[in-house]
Amino acid sequence: MDYKPTIGLEIHCELKTETKMFCDCPNDTSEQHPNVNVCPICLGHPGVLPTANKKAIEAIIKIGFAVGGEINKKFKFDRKNYFYPDLPKGYQISQFDMPIVKGGLIDISSRIGGDKKVKLNRVHLEEDAGKLVHSEDGNSTLVDFNRGGLPLMELVTEPDIHSAKEAAAFAKELQLILRYLEVSDADLEKGQMRFDLNISVSKDKKLGQRAEVKNLNSFGALEAAINYEIERQTEILESGKAVKQETRGWDDSKMKTEGQRSKEESHDYRYFPEPDLPVFSSDGFDLSGIKNSLPELPAAKRIRTQKEYGLDSVQVDYLIDEKDEAEFFEDAVSELEADEKGVISPEEIKLIYNYLTSDLKGLMKEWEISFENLRITPENFADLIKMISAKEISSRVAKNLLIQMAQAGADPRQIVKEEGLSQVSDESELLPIIKKIIEENPAVVADYKKGKTNALQFFVGKAMGALKGKGNPAVLQKLFKDQLI
Ligand code: ADP
Ligand code: ZN
Ligand code: MG
Repeated sequence: MDYKPTIGLEIHCELKTETKMFCDCPNDTSEQHPNVNVCPICLGHPGVLPTANKKAIEAIIKIGFAVGGEINKKFKFDRKNYFYPDLPKGYQISQFDMPIVKGGLIDISSRIGGDKKVKLNRVHLEEDAGKLVHSEDGNSTLVDFNRGGLPLMELVTEPDIHSAKEAAAFAKELQLILRYLEVSDADLEKGQMRFDLNISVSKDKKLGQRAEVKNLNSFGALEAAINYEIERQTEILESGKAVKQETRGWDDSKMKTEGQRSKEESHDYRYFPEPDLPVFSSDGFDLSGIKNSLPELPAAKRIRTQKEYGLDSVQVDYLIDEKDEAEFFEDAVSELEADEKGVISPEEIKLIYNYLTSDLKGLMKEWEISFENLRITPENFADLIKMISAKEISSRVAKNLLIQMAQAGADPRQIVKEEGLSQVSDESELLPIIKKIIEENPAVVADYKKGKTNALQFFVGKAMGALKGKGNPAVLQKLFKDQLI
């Protein structure tokens, strides 16, 4: 019989607030100069007092509502004591037995193609530590306290995950929820989101002895570390030995986990209530206001988008995974005109989806622009689509137009008018050009008459060139055929 893996995740995520958790220093993760966003409070000088950041607490409450957890009536902060150079106070202010949020669920069904909700244990708030920068020769280490004291969410799941795929799906869905809530950018590359992993394997219902793998900073590393641990722990148990409860680290270059230290128990941290902060009551926060401010969340948006726009589930998942893109799509679709029966053309919706996800996104990637600084409005984008749909412009002109729109932020109808880019379908305008091309290419005409059908493509291409891409390819093809009989 196979060993069944069981996984619990502890996920840390830096919150996007203006200031740090317990002082007024800026929360600026893009700051390049070390140790500029610091003050006596976040550097832990003697005699200073922390003040809790209300916005950070509200962000955790918001997350709590989003995952259907319970907001505890009373919550408090505790000191978690340990000595490490990234922690100037010698303790981290965290939450021990009275976190802000208890319980909750995250649905990962759409990501794994099956029915699965992962139960949560808690969500609490703490402060981030400083960042250690090791020199390349390995002889020295510097510390940057800009990150020290940033508000940090910690979300702990129940041991309710049973594969690497489920774990990665969970982490991705949480990242998306945090982005939809606008409480964090949850950018893994910037270290804003980090995973700790607890994993055990067992043959029966009872959970096995677990190992902990700390500080994974990509979805790939999370999956790889899980698969590595499943194999390692299975081998140990198969050989009749016992898995050690320990903290391990993931080595990305060796693609393996390595034992670091025996696991700390909570008594090792000598937790005690932070004496300089009060016990908080949830009554002090506008709970219903926060609840009402929740945006539509990814799970609900997936269902609605699929129903409303007739996209398939792959298209929907792709869209929803980027909030700004999903919003741009909906804003553009809302600019389309409904027919007498109030129906919006499904073809135009598909055109919006296709031009958005391939052409526009391709352009944005190439030019490194985000939706935030994109100069094309959803309204102008919808106008472009309407012109394509009505065959007023060719797809070749559309591609160039898109580039011009992105450069100048201009109205596509204006550009078409000013530059005379309308698609030419008029026979009287096309025929002289067609006749000239036929006259100038007798050899190709002969080929065509011998049955070489791709000669037709050559002719259409020539005409398109002469018309600067404005010709209607279908009309051109028909006219060439007529003339060549
Ligand atoms: P700790 O004292 O290490 O913080 P917790 O009880 O807070 O322990 O659990 C930490 C994480 O480990 C949680 O996500 C939990 O679901 C998970 N976990 C606990 N026991 C096991 C186990 N036997 N196998 C896998 N994961 C486990
Ligand atoms: Zn400070
Ligand atoms: Mg814990």
